[in-house]
Parts: sequence; C-alpha cells; structure tokens
Amino acid sequence: MPPTAPVVHGAVIISAIETAWREIRRRFDGVPDICVTTPPTTGAQDPTKCTALRTGRRFERYGHLTMQLQVSSGTLGLGGRPMMEGLLHHAAHGLALTRRIVDVSGGDRRWHNKKYGSLAREVGLVPPARAAKVIGRGRCPLPDSEAEKWAEVIAALDATAAVQLKATIQAVAPPRGGRSGSRFAIVCECTPVPRRQQVTPHFYEQGPLLCGLCLAKFRPADSVVLSAQAAGEDL
Ligand SMILES: [Zn+2]
Ligand SMILES: [Zn+2]
Repeated sequence: MPPTAPVVHGAVIISAIETAWREIRRRFDGVPDICVTTPPTTGAQDPTKCTALRTGRRFERYGHLTMQLQVSSGTLGLGGRPMMEGLLHHAAHGLALTRRIVDVSGGDRRWHNKKYGSLAREVGLVPPARAAKVIGRGRCPLPDSEAEKWAEVIAALDATAAVQLKATIQAVAPPRGGRSGSRFAIVCECTPVPRRQQVTPHFYEQGPLLCGLCLAKFRPADSVVLSAQAAGEDL
C-alpha cells in the first residue's frame, strides 16, 4: 500500500471531526476544545462506546482546556450517525470537565454515574433509566428527533467516510494494466471477531457485499496487518 494513504486519511478525518466539534461547541456552552488524533491502527471500533474515542488525555492549549479524542478511519467508516453520537457522548464529558464534575469512576474510569447521565441529556442524548453493568449510564443513544438536528453534520461525516473509503480502494488498486487487480481484505461487523475475506477492487466495486450473520456491509480492513494485530486490544 502506498505510504501516502494513511496520511490522507488522517488529515481528512481530523478536519471532518473538528468541523463537527465546532458545531457542537457553537450549540452548547462550556464544551471544551478538542485535539483529534488518528491512531495508526485503522480497525473499526463502535464510536458510541466511550473507549473507542477516548484517550483520557487533556491539556491546556492557548490557555484553553483541550481534550484529546482518537478517531480511526475504520471507526469513522461505521457511519456519521454513530460518530455523531460518540462525539456528543464526549461533549457531555467535556461539560463535566469544564464544570469540574466527577462523571466517571472506577479504576479504568468506565463507570458513568448519574451526573454523567444528566450531562448527556443536556446535549440531547437519552441516558438509560437504570445503570448497566460496568459502564453505568455510559450508553446514551442519540434519538431520531435529535439526530435530525444534526443532519448536515452527519451527512458531512458520512461524506468524509466515503472519501476515505475511496482512498483506501485506490490505495490497493492495481497499477494500470494489472490483470486481475491485487486483492485486499474486507471485514464485516461480526463480534467479537469480524469475518474477513480477500476481494479484488473490481469485485468490491461491483456492489455492496453483505454479511449474512451481522447483516453489515463488508468494508476494507484498510491497514490490514495493523488492525489484525490490534484486534482485541480494547473493549
Ligand atoms: Zn464516556
Ligand atoms: Zn458479519
């Protein structure tokens, strides 16, 4: 794979996330700035899970509190709406930071307490009535009525995901005159281990490939070797 592909992904992803975040800050007072990092592995992690975007790093930049979020191309590839939910999830954490509210606890800070639930509600997410095991009120979905208010932002995130997907395909496309095209790996969303297969760019571009188990579309595994090594490193 040409070395330029991950760089292109990184720049495109960062600017899309920063744009979405600017809109979040415009709508909600007290959400701090973010700094986006793109991890070297491009494995997809469900962005609505706190740990997918969280790095836990925060610092002062130009005198402002700044939180760091990580977004891989695979994670963004899961779609604009889950990404939006994930960003709002962290916007609620940002409010907690600004207001010095303790919203998570536990050794790995995965327990989201009732105060987190209230902050999530402020940004339009719906906290569960009861705390779940381990994560407490960590899963706060973005309802359709709220998602509508973010339609343009979600569309922009989807467009970015499409651009980077195309870049991935081009990065693995054969040189002109290649006979069958070099194969690349595609993965579905089966958990805990996505199913994986090798396809040619032509075969992939002919139409969507669906997994009969998870019913998700297969998409390029991208930096295949790296994501395979990283599989299972996070929850
Ligand atoms: Zn969280
Ligand atoms: Zn599957």
